[in-house]
Amino acid sequence: MSKKIIIFFGPPGSGKGTQAEMLAKKTDWKKISTGDLFRAEIANGTKLGKSVGKYLQAGKLVPDKLTLSLVEESLKQKTSGFIFDGFPRNKRQLNDLLAVFRKRLKKNDLAYALEVAVGDKEVKQRLSQRRSCACGAVYHLIYNPPINEGVCDICGGKLFTRNDDKPKVIAHRLKLYYNESKSILDYWQKQGRLIKIAGEQPIKKIHEEIMEKLKKLKLV
Ligand SMILES: [Zn+2]
Repeated sequence: MSKKIIIFFGPPGSGKGTQAEMLAKKTDWKKISTGDLFRAEIANGTKLGKSVGKYLQAGKLVPDKLTLSLVEESLKQKTSGFIFDGFPRNKRQLNDLLAVFRKRLKKNDLAYALEVAVGDKEVKQRLSQRRSCACGAVYHLIYNPPINEGVCDICGGKLFTRNDDKPKVIAHRLKLYYNESKSILDYWQKQGRLIKIAGEQPIKKIHEEIMEKLKKLKLV
């Protein structure tokens, strides 16, 4: 049987991580997110993990080569599919990944990119309404407000706007995302392997649209 590979894309605030998670649960495909890979290596105390930990502790980006070897390693897992979330981020990483695919995948394995599309206005609206607590809880003033204004339901802490969710920073993050993802999405588009999903609808509906489109392509 051929393996299926779905690579998720979407601007910050698109909820692509949530969707990747939901798809993984539904299909039992393995999710590959670089953040999870880093954490697992560090927790297992491997040689790679120690090296990754050094970069993260110093607040530095983990070099592509290191990330790629972790990704390649996780592609050895026995499963009928993989879901990528947060990798590749730019054209260079895409080329690296395609080289790994050529090495690790069989001819009839199928790789697709899936973009959860959300307009800039909606992204700004979603992120600017987000409030965080030091305990890790995240609220949305419209969709998921705290019971008492400005106070965390869980720990009673004072809520704040993360720097990342301030308008100026949001605009910068969006620009970065579109700059880096454009050439990647163009590549998949040219291959006829880009699935576009309308991200401006409720989480459940987005998931349904993803399942429908994957069914049509006989991927699930
Ligand atoms: Zn809290």
